[in-house]
Amino acid sequence: MTSQRTRERLIQRLKEQGISNQRVLDVMRVTPRHLFLDEALSHRAYEDTALPIGYGQTLSQPYIVALMTELLLSLGPRRKVLEIGTGSGYQTAILAQLVDQVYGVERIKPLIDKARERLRLLGLRNVRLSHSDGGFGWAENAPYDGILSAAAPNQVPEELLHQLAPDGILVIPVGSGEVQELRVITREGDSANFEERVVEQVRFVPLLSGISR
Ligand code: SAH
Repeated sequence: MTSQRTRERLIQRLKEQGISNQRVLDVMRVTPRHLFLDEALSHRAYEDTALPIGYGQTLSQPYIVALMTELLLSLGPRRKVLEIGTGSGYQTAILAQLVDQVYGVERIKPLIDKARERLRLLGLRNVRLSHSDGGFGWAENAPYDGILSAAAPNQVPEELLHQLAPDGILVIPVGSGEVQELRVITREGDSANFEERVVEQVRFVPLLSGISR
C-alpha cells in the first residue's frame, strides 16, 4: 500500500490537478505520509483525501498541501516560514524540506507531541514547534517570509499581517461556513499595503481560540 508505485500514482494525480512546482512534487514523492497517520489508516495514506488524526482534526488532503505549498513559494524561495495548525506534522515536514526554517504552532497538546516525535524520526531539524494559539502568530520569531494556515478563521487575524516580512506571503483559508475561500495575501515591499486574491473554495477545520491540553 505504501509502495513506490502507489506514491507515484498520487504524484501523477497532483500533476493532473495542476500542481507544477517540481520541487514540491519531488518532496511529496519522498515524504512518507503513512508515518503521519495511525496504523489503522496508514493503508490509505497515498489516497488524495483528508484523513482523521484524532481530536476532531484531519490531516489535509495531499492536493491541498501541494497547492498551499506551491502558492507559498510562488514569489520565490522562502527562508523563514510560520505554519499555523501543525496537526500531524505532515505539512510541516513538506515545508521543512523546501525552506530554511519552519516554525509551527498547534493548539492541541497530544497532536504537537506526536508531530514533534515524527519530525525528529525523519531527521528534520529545521523545525521549531510551539503549543499555542496560532491566531496570534508567533511574535517571538517574526517576521516571516511566508505564513501558511491549515485552519480557517472567520477573518484574517491582524497579527498575522503584522508578522509578515517585506514581500512576505500569507496563504490562508478564510470563512465561517463549511466551505471557505483560500486566499493569498502579499505584503507590498516593506509597506503596510497588502494585495489579496482568492484562489479557490476549500474545506478546512476552523481556527479555534485558546489551547487544549
Ligand atoms: N497541516 C495539518 C492540518 C491539521 S488540521 C496536517 O496536515 O496534519 C488543522 C489544525 O489546526 C488542527 O490540528 C487544529 O488543532 C489546529 N488549530 C486550530 N485552531 C488553531 C489555533 N488557533 N492555533 C493553532 N492551531 C490551531
